Amino acid sequence: MSKVPPPRLSLEERRAALEKAKSSRQDRAGVKRSIALGEISIFEAISDPRESIRRMKVIDLLSALPGVGKSRATLIMERRNISLTRRIGGLGQLQVKALGKELAVSKGEPTRGNLIVISGPGGVGKSTITSALRGDPRFWISVSATTREPRVGERDGVDYFFHTHAKFMELIEKGEFLEWAEFAGNLYGTPRTPVEEWRRLGKHVILEIEIAGARQVRVQEPGATLVFIAPPSWDELVRRLTGRGTDSPERRAARLALAEEEMAASGEFDAILVNESVEGLIAELVSLATA
Ligand code: 5GP
Repeated sequence: MSKVPPPRLSLEERRAALEKAKSSRQDRAGVKRSIALGEISIFEAISDPRESIRRMKVIDLLSALPGVGKSRATLIMERRNISLTRRIGGLGQLQVKALGKELAVSKGEPTRGNLIVISGPGGVGKSTITSALRGDPRFWISVSATTREPRVGERDGVDYFFHTHAKFMELIEKGEFLEWAEFAGNLYGTPRTPVEEWRRLGKHVILEIEIAGARQVRVQEPGATLVFIAPPSWDELVRRLTGRGTDSPERRAARLALAEEEMAASGEFDAILVNESVEGLIAELVSLATA
């Protein structure tokens, strides 16, 4: 008897299979993101009828929950005797109930996220660092309010909340800022409520602010970790600041003078990290921030 050869896929069929795998990966990433952001509950994800989600591993879904993570998810599944390779579609009614109980218990005590303040002179690369952390589900980067004009490409609600002076003053009056300060002729402030909410959900919250604001956070939140980002050298900082090209000469001179003042404050911080390489700095920052 001759063996039946495996079915040979045509180029078209192979392309379709690859397309399907890609779209399944996107579905799963979308569900995990929504879980991490608290947009949907774990039970909404479990009852998602899409095949791509039904084939997703339960452990991956649990790990995406804020404040749970892989080791806690493993613990929960082991305690309820659910195989670590179980997929969502394979969960029995009783197992779903058991997970509900476990999550209800752990819900009362989510580990509150840390508060990390990143400061340092303009041009030192603070925003490159915070942008790099933006895709990491362990962190949430605060969006500040400001009275300065948007730069080209900046979006309201994404880079900053751009307010008029009058609106900013109103928000100060209402106590809406965790801290606020004037910098180079404009007002900047950290909206208080989102910082609190994301920390409650277990995210480590990162504020990228100037020194006067960092000092206020130190008083208001003594448990915060204050990190100063320093340039490899003063000359390098001058080069970066003057090479920026988005500011007028007067504004640039003001920024240099302020940078000098800011450098002098580095000793007030819990840690000073030198920006020699972005990757190295991010690794150090992540270990400080998640400690
Ligand atoms: P830029 O106008 O270049 O975006 O920011 C100018 C300075 O304002 C930077 O040093 C930045 O870290 C700081 N900054 C941005 N947001 C805030 C904030 O909410 N509070 C304070 N105190 N400083 C901020």
